[in-house]
Amino acid sequence: MASVAASPTNSHAALYTASYNNSQQNQIYQQNPFQPSQNQNPYQSNQNFPNTNNHLSSAPVPKVLRDMNHLSQENEDLSLQQHRYANQVEYTSANDAGEFRSFYTFQNVSPPEATSQFHAVDQGTSSSKFIRSTMYYVPESESLRAATKLPISVTIRPFAPLLASEEPVPLVDMKRDDIGANDDPLSKGPIRCRRCRTYVNPSFQFTNDGKFMCNICQFPNNVVPDDYASVLDGQGYRIDRLSRPELHKGVYDLLVPDEYNFGGPEVHSQPLHHIFLIDISEQSVKQNLPVIIADAIRATLYTDDYDLDNYDPNEPETPNKRVKQKFAFIAFDKSLHFFNLSPTLESTQVVISSDLEDPFVPFSEGMFVDAEESKNVIEDALNQLESFCSQETVADSETCFLAACRTAMLCLEAVGGGKITSILSTLPTWGPGALKYKDNKNVGRSPAPLMEKRLYSVDNEYIKLLGRDFVEKNVGLDVHVISPTSVDLSNIGWLSSITGGTISRSSNFNFERDGRSLTAKIINSIKKASGYQGQLKLRCSNGLQVSQYYGTSSSIADTSVVGSVQDPVIPVLNEDQTFTILLEYDGKLSTKLDCHFQAALLYTDPDGVRKVRVINLVVAVTERLEDAFNFADENAIVTTIVRDTLSFVGKQPLTELRESVNSKLVEIFTQYRAMSEYGHNTTRTLTNQLLFPDSLVHLPIYLLAFIKSKAIRDSTAISSDVRLADLYQMLSMPIERLMYLLYPALIELHSISEEEAEFEPTNGFFSLPKSKEVSASHLQKGVYILCDGMKVYVWVHPESNMMLVKDLFGDQVESVEELNPLIDELPELPTHISEQARNIVKYFQTYIVGDSSLESAGIRLVRPGIDGVEHEFRELLVEDSLRGSMATNSSLGYPEYLSNLHKAIRVKLDNDSSSNKVKQSVTNAENHHDTLAQRLIHF
Ligand SMILES: [Zn+2]
Repeated sequence: MASVAASPTNSHAALYTASYNNSQQNQIYQQNPFQPSQNQNPYQSNQNFPNTNNHLSSAPVPKVLRDMNHLSQENEDLSLQQHRYANQVEYTSANDAGEFRSFYTFQNVSPPEATSQFHAVDQGTSSSKFIRSTMYYVPESESLRAATKLPISVTIRPFAPLLASEEPVPLVDMKRDDIGANDDPLSKGPIRCRRCRTYVNPSFQFTNDGKFMCNICQFPNNVVPDDYASVLDGQGYRIDRLSRPELHKGVYDLLVPDEYNFGGPEVHSQPLHHIFLIDISEQSVKQNLPVIIADAIRATLYTDDYDLDNYDPNEPETPNKRVKQKFAFIAFDKSLHFFNLSPTLESTQVVISSDLEDPFVPFSEGMFVDAEESKNVIEDALNQLESFCSQETVADSETCFLAACRTAMLCLEAVGGGKITSILSTLPTWGPGALKYKDNKNVGRSPAPLMEKRLYSVDNEYIKLLGRDFVEKNVGLDVHVISPTSVDLSNIGWLSSITGGTISRSSNFNFERDGRSLTAKIINSIKKASGYQGQLKLRCSNGLQVSQYYGTSSSIADTSVVGSVQDPVIPVLNEDQTFTILLEYDGKLSTKLDCHFQAALLYTDPDGVRKVRVINLVVAVTERLEDAFNFADENAIVTTIVRDTLSFVGKQPLTELRESVNSKLVEIFTQYRAMSEYGHNTTRTLTNQLLFPDSLVHLPIYLLAFIKSKAIRDSTAISSDVRLADLYQMLSMPIERLMYLLYPALIELHSISEEEAEFEPTNGFFSLPKSKEVSASHLQKGVYILCDGMKVYVWVHPESNMMLVKDLFGDQVESVEELNPLIDELPELPTHISEQARNIVKYFQTYIVGDSSLESAGIRLVRPGIDGVEHEFRELLVEDSLRGSMATNSSLGYPEYLSNLHKAIRVKLDNDSSSNKVKQSVTNAENHHDTLAQRLIHF
């Protein structure tokens, strides 16, 4: 993989850049007297790309009137792109003194946008990188909450990556093993509330007489163990507070004693064990997958930077960061191929087993090995794997993938669980658990509840049992699907999702173009693993309780007793996982006490060390509706609405789900409008315009994008695997990726300024240029980079300025048509624009897509009228109406959607009975019992 260290500072490049941007530009003007003078940039084309798509572009755009709390900004009608840009710049640009603004977690109330890079200072309540609430002023009661129509939920990312300049998450030894054996075992380990088991945190109130009060349940009678006693200072704080992270940090890891081990104190916690489960059937071999997998494994195990360019297999000393983790390989077609990797062997021994009904593991020693000790044998095994692609004999066309999964589970069970990273190229139709093609027609168009239920729900009994076993035995499954046809993700995706695994899917795989992207996914499966044997528990202040954990193993417990929410077991953990947890009222919150959350994730880290990651969040409690709206968090609310809606796929028809999202939007803004009209202490003159709270001004575009997303879009052209691959990813991806997936970034290369698109050397902040609104009407005859959270596209209009094309793709290129459609990166050229473009790709791959090993590679070239992928690109322009769809809400352009929203709000308010209800719910929130039908959405 080529490095991106193109240096524009070498003398030639500097010369070129300078002459290019100064004198050369003038030259252009001289040579082109007809060039319109407003084109200040030599790349700029003077013609708009004809907008053939958006027939609504001439429709009047209703002005979105924002809340009037910020009068100075009132005239600035911030689009989502402008808003993101402004927020990003706020935190990533230095002031005149060269300082960057930090986010102080206690002083500052509303966190930065999830899409912004920012430096956070942990002041005893967690940064939004780890936990994001939908509200930073939580309504004190359910009736007040119901009057907002907004959910109360938190989204947690336990292993969020931090900037190099931020303090790493501290580790505190709380094993306290030396407590006498006769003592209560509960007195060993971390200090916790005796009633609700909350872990020690900065909001515990200690007293001088050796007690403390729990911030979650207010239980007062706890006794501080002698070894943890401390005197208080004049302000009532423990004097040792600043030397103990658990007393002044929002996020920390606690080391815990053996009593916390999975399976009890007698069971020793093991380092993380991995199994690569590799498809070697006909379809896999045809696509050369074994070669890619072998290279990905080499890069993962034996290189420092996941780059094989400088890798020499004969070099004795290679860096190995995964010192204690163990690895195994099993290949599968219609049989299972076990690789003995014992370091005592000269070369690997392969045992083939066709007994799938009662699978067994043929050897114990040599199954899981240390990558360094068994390096030669592993290299031999990888060579054998690659040789499957060059064999004369025809490979099996069917696979026994599910029996392979069960066998891998049996191997991992013996070591306390672990992670399976699998490659799958075809529907597994062989052996126990074999799947059949599900009919796929006409889904999503007409309400067909039964058919949708069958298509989108797990219905294979073998897989259901496997799911329970995986969770029970702490086995997680990552599945990378590379198949032009369905592999039935309704079953396989479910299995992966409930075990904490990740799913990736590629249907139009090309070895040359997509090889590196697939390698990056496989590397991530190992590199991003943060632990296993996870158990997540969220505790919160009296008055609130957990109602639902989305997209986790707790969804298995559909049959559990109503009212009891099972805390999820998460077999494998990774850096990208986020969990959204919905809350409900079981009482009233106190405005005097704030609202406290504590997420505790008990887990075993990759080295086999048992820990609890504690994430604390304190937010205010309010009795004012206005506060609830004004301090609502758009990113978290969108995430919650998306995940709640997706949790109904397979249970309710997609048409109803889309309708529910629309009704939710109308409800929220109707309530806000009503609050503004009827609320006390308001003296506003209301115009007949849309009125959104500042905090939620982009909710309509996000939710319009969601109903157009592949997961729930109104279309007959999307297969269920395409929908489900997106669905399962949306249930757990980081918030910033979800925001981009709904509303992509679109950078216009020919108009960016010279200083933009640079990484700040000290802290890695990136000066991302301002994005265009994602609509075909903004695409000119030029070059654009679009990132939708999962992929990075480079869009090149065939009539782009050739100077720009040459500067990006090389001097030898004479026309856009002759570009190689299979390139997966922009070449490294000594031009400034080339460096800027590669930086933008690198930023997206690293910080949004999360495939940092790709650096600036992994792009997809899109040339309108030339490349087939153009269609896919067009669908990402969510502000436009969808071509070829039925004229329903799902296909509307943004202006018309806003206009419809406006009408719907008016109708709702003008309707007498409804209006009274709304009015009542707003003015009399305290006593009101909400009766508006909310058929589907949980809040
Ligand atoms: Zn408590």
